[in-house]
Amino acid sequence: MTVGLVPTMGFLHKGHIALVQAAHKQNDIVVVSIFVNPTQFAPNEDFNRYPRDIERDCKLLDKAGADIVFIPEASEIYPPYSQTFVSVETLSQLAEGEFRPTHFRGVTTIVNMLFNIVQPDRAYFGQKDAQQTAVIRRMVKDLHQPVDIVICPIVRETDGLAMSSRNIFLSDQDRKNALTLSKSLELAKTLIGVGERAVPTIISAMTNLYKDLQDVQLDYIRIVDAETFLPVSALALPREYFIIIACKVGTTRLIDNAWITVELNTVRFQ
Ligand code: AMP
Repeated sequence: MTVGLVPTMGFLHKGHIALVQAAHKQNDIVVVSIFVNPTQFAPNEDFNRYPRDIERDCKLLDKAGADIVFIPEASEIYPPYSQTFVSVETLSQLAEGEFRPTHFRGVTTIVNMLFNIVQPDRAYFGQKDAQQTAVIRRMVKDLHQPVDIVICPIVRETDGLAMSSRNIFLSDQDRKNALTLSKSLELAKTLIGVGERAVPTIISAMTNLYKDLQDVQLDYIRIVDAETFLPVSALALPREYFIIIACKVGTTRLIDNAWITVELNTVRFQ
C-alpha cells in the first residue's frame, strides 16, 4: 500500500490538480494537505490576505481523486513554545532567499512535519516553485528521508501565465503585464535554441522586455545551476539549469522559470 502526499496552501487551481492526478496514478492512497503555513511568510508579506476557499477546494479534490484532505490548524502544527526548525542552509539563502530570508526555513519545517505526520512513500511538488523543489530534494537527501520526491511540470493559462493562487490579485492591467514573465522565458528559449550560450546576453535581452512597463518591479532574472542555484555565466557544460524570474506586478509578487537541460548536441526545455 503506497501513500502519495501533495502539500498545498489551498485556493486550488489546475496546477495543484495535476499534482493530485499524478499522485492518484502512482499511489494507492492520496493525501492532500491544505495549510497556509505562517512560518514561510515574513511579517511584511501576504499571509493574512492569502486567498482561502476550503469548501471549493474539497469539491475539486474529491473529483481529482484525493482520498484524504488534511487541514490542520496553525495551533496544532505550532503549539505554544514550539521552537524547532529544519533548515537547508546555503541553498535557502540564495535567489528567492535573498528577498525572503526566512521563507525556505518555513517550507522545509512544514514539509518535514507533513512527512512525519503522513509518512508518505512519494511527495509531489510543482516545478513552478523551482527553488523549493531543489531545497526539498536537498533536505530529503541530507536527512536520508525515505520519501521519493516527484516534480510535475508547470501548468499555464492558455496565454502562458503560470497558474498561481495569487493571480486572483492581478488587475486587468497587471494581468497583461504579468505575461511578460512567460514571454521573456520564451525569448530566452529562442535565443538558446539558435545557439546563444552567454548568460549576460540572454538576461539583457529578457530584461529589455520589462523596461517600459508601469508598476512592475523586476527583483531578478538569473540563470542558475539547477541543483545549487548558484549563478552561471554560460550554458557551456552539459548539465541542468533554471532560468528563474521574480517580479512584483502591481502589489503581487510572481515567480516563473524554465528548466534547461544542456546535452552534448541538444538542449531541452521544460
Ligand atoms: P502552493 O499552494 O502555492 O503552496 O502550491 C502547492 C504545490 O503546487 C507546490 O508544489 C507548487 O509548486 C505547486 N504548484 C503551484 N502552482 C503550480 C503550477 N502552475 N503548475 C504546477 N504546479 C504548481
